[in-house]
Amino acid sequence: MRIGHGFDVHAFCEGDSIVLCGVRIPHNKAFKAHSDGDVALHALCDALLGAAALGDIGRHFPDTDAQYAGIDSKILLRHVVELLRQKKFCCVNLDITIVAQRPKLQPHIEAMCQSIADVIGIDRNLVNVKATTSEKLGFTGREEGIAAYAVVLLETL
Ligand code: MG
Repeated sequence: MRIGHGFDVHAFCEGDSIVLCGVRIPHNKAFKAHSDGDVALHALCDALLGAAALGDIGRHFPDTDAQYAGIDSKILLRHVVELLRQKKFCCVNLDITIVAQRPKLQPHIEAMCQSIADVIGIDRNLVNVKATTSEKLGFTGREEGIAAYAVVLLETL
């Protein structure tokens, strides 16, 4: 068994939607990012890479590399899962916490869980996504951006 933890933040800029866990959610802001800014999937990728002792997302997908500009983070996650497969790791379960004052994420939780399960190729029941606010405190509370934490457990095949 191997445990991994990931954390990511993205700031907002002007826009009309954000992507979280591969699900596009209407909002009056967008993520300022080199990729699609999907903080939840970035935290998840880091947790998976961490559990497998494979470094971090910045090492595998440098934000100085033009081929990752605006990239769908589901592609990054798929690549990470493939790296784990090569090392004979499979995911036991995963748990994500998204910290956002707005938008309200509750209506999108089920779609986000299903999206992750589909990309990784695991049962929906192994995936948990939670959303919380920071009680209007800090950068998430001021709606300057969104933070996400992820924890994963892997086992060797
Ligand atoms: Mg990121």
